Amino acid sequence: MIQLAQELANTELFRDVPEGTLNLVLEQAVPMELAPGAILLTPERDNHHVYLLLSGTLSLHFDSPNSPEIRELPAGVSVGEMSVIDDGPPSAYIVAKTACRVFPVHKNLLGALVDSNPVARNLLRLMNQWIKANTRRIVQDRMRISELTDQANIDALTGLYNRRWLNNVLARLLEQAQKDGLPLTILLIDVDHFKKYNDTQGHQSGDCALIALSEVLKTTARPYDFPTRYGGEEFLVLLQNTDLEGGVAVAERIQKAVRMKSISNPDGEPIPGITASIGLATSDASSTVESLIETADVRLYRAKKDGRDCLCHTSMTFPEITL
Ligand code: GH3
Ligand code: MG
Ligand code: MG
Repeated sequence: MIQLAQELANTELFRDVPEGTLNLVLEQAVPMELAPGAILLTPERDNHHVYLLLSGTLSLHFDSPNSPEIRELPAGVSVGEMSVIDDGPPSAYIVAKTACRVFPVHKNLLGALVDSNPVARNLLRLMNQWIKANTRRIVQDRMRISELTDQANIDALTGLYNRRWLNNVLARLLEQAQKDGLPLTILLIDVDHFKKYNDTQGHQSGDCALIALSEVLKTTARPYDFPTRYGGEEFLVLLQNTDLEGGVAVAERIQKAVRMKSISNPDGEPIPGITASIGLATSDASSTVESLIETADVRLYRAKKDGRDCLCHTSMTFPEITL
């Protein structure tokens, strides 16, 4: 009990508070243990306590308990004051970062302690209003930024990630794959004779064909594959933790699905289908983003040479045989 009183006296809220008040607080509750990852406060639940962190570390998150940490909270802090003062749900998530001991102080008790001094209570309410207004603005700004970032990374026609996104992500995923000693395979996909398709069907029908192809990529991709629009009528599918053999299987599946996909023009009338050629490349310890894309590009060119609607996954060149 004496040790607990000392721990309470070490918190920011009860610093320099008379012993009688501390004893009153101690009579009302006991400390709670939180396992790492436990969610102490959430905007989805009304909160009736201020929690004093006696030991361990908490973390503050805005969008969800799994979103990036905004701030780390060390022992001695208290959380939940704002929601207790204005009797609403918390505005953020508070999660146990490590094993924690927290001491709950019920809002009625806190109210009684604060009410003994009406000026302190009014001051608290005013400060709380200011802080809440600021927090709301920060949350709105963050949502707007994330909306804009999403728009900049997504291709408007197909809804797939665009090249800008790929440029950011491929280097990171390749580095991670090399660190983990795992292969990463890319498929560079190009629509066959698409210029002629546009010329005969019209550009808008060409757009419909590109949308149809992107639908094939979305449905054939596994949850950890990333189909992207690389540019024009070229697409790149990033296959994590996939070797060349696995990549060939995915590429064959895509090619078959593209061949079978029915396409309609903007008026909903059926138009001819398309085919696509694919060049594959798989990473090893010495690969770079540039070398990987260059290899896939050379092999795509080779697939085109080989007659289109086919794939190429090897850099072997065969001598011309003359009979
Ligand atoms: P290949 O089989 O060798 O790939 O021949 P191709 O005609 O597909 O290749 P080429 O590079 O000559 O032509 C690509 C065409 O793709 C030309 C371009 O107008 C068309 N294209 C690129 N982006 C779009 C788009 O967003 N919409 C439409 N409808 N067409 C596009
Ligand atoms: Mg092309
Ligand atoms: Mg093409």
